[in-house]
Amino acid sequence: MTNTKAVSGCTDSTRDRLRTLGIETWTPRLQPPLGPPRSEVEVPLSTDEGSTVSVLEKPRCENWDELEQEVRTCTRCALHETRTQVVFGVGNRNASWLFIGEAPGEQEDLQGEPFVGRAGQLLNEMIKALGLAREDVYIANVLKCRPPQNRDPSPSEVASCESYLQSQVALIKPDIIMAVGRIAAQNLLKTTTPIGKLRGQVHDYQGIPLVVTYHPAYLLRSQTEKRRAWEDLKLARRTLTVQATPGIDSSQ
Ligand code: URA
Repeated sequence: MTNTKAVSGCTDSTRDRLRTLGIETWTPRLQPPLGPPRSEVEVPLSTDEGSTVSVLEKPRCENWDELEQEVRTCTRCALHETRTQVVFGVGNRNASWLFIGEAPGEQEDLQGEPFVGRAGQLLNEMIKALGLAREDVYIANVLKCRPPQNRDPSPSEVASCESYLQSQVALIKPDIIMAVGRIAAQNLLKTTTPIGKLRGQVHDYQGIPLVVTYHPAYLLRSQTEKRRAWEDLKLARRTLTVQATPGIDSSQ
């Protein structure tokens, strides 16, 4: 497995020496604290019908075992009734790169792993184009259970699942997040802005830079957009390099 983490927290002279060896150095980023459990906090949640209700915000889990156990037995929304199994997420739990898709499809629901169908094969190619292997990165979805007939996730399903993804992000502490597809991007960034406008910028999710790209299922249908997806990956890679090397202009 390739070690995709850069070396962190070194002095300028150490950094220069490491760079001559081809080892990229890293300026540690302040991670948002997990904070105390927030199960008592009431937050407004827009329901699928468009009205607003108050729900108890779910607490975040602070270790993988606890989190995985909770997700695998989750009954927070009705999708637990139709799922074959929970699709928790897969990959390197210390990854620099976190790819977040929308929700499991049919194959993912059957196999219990995100992005294993045809779209997953293209996602693997995109990861390979970055010089990485699938095992080097972490891959997760906004929803952990398959919506029937692959319909779009509903707002209440996204809200029910949100703390699971937030916990995964807080545990992995990735250096960059790729939001894969419109649904993932809009839900992560809590916006209805079209994907065309969200691409090409560096956003923020829990203090971590987030770059938006097209969903590989869309790229399979629209081959001409592959070049744009490659631009997105290059923007993410540049963002990592700029973070690791203070003083570099991010627009170059
Ligand atoms: N599409 C997604 O967004 N996620 C998957 O896991 C599979 C297909």
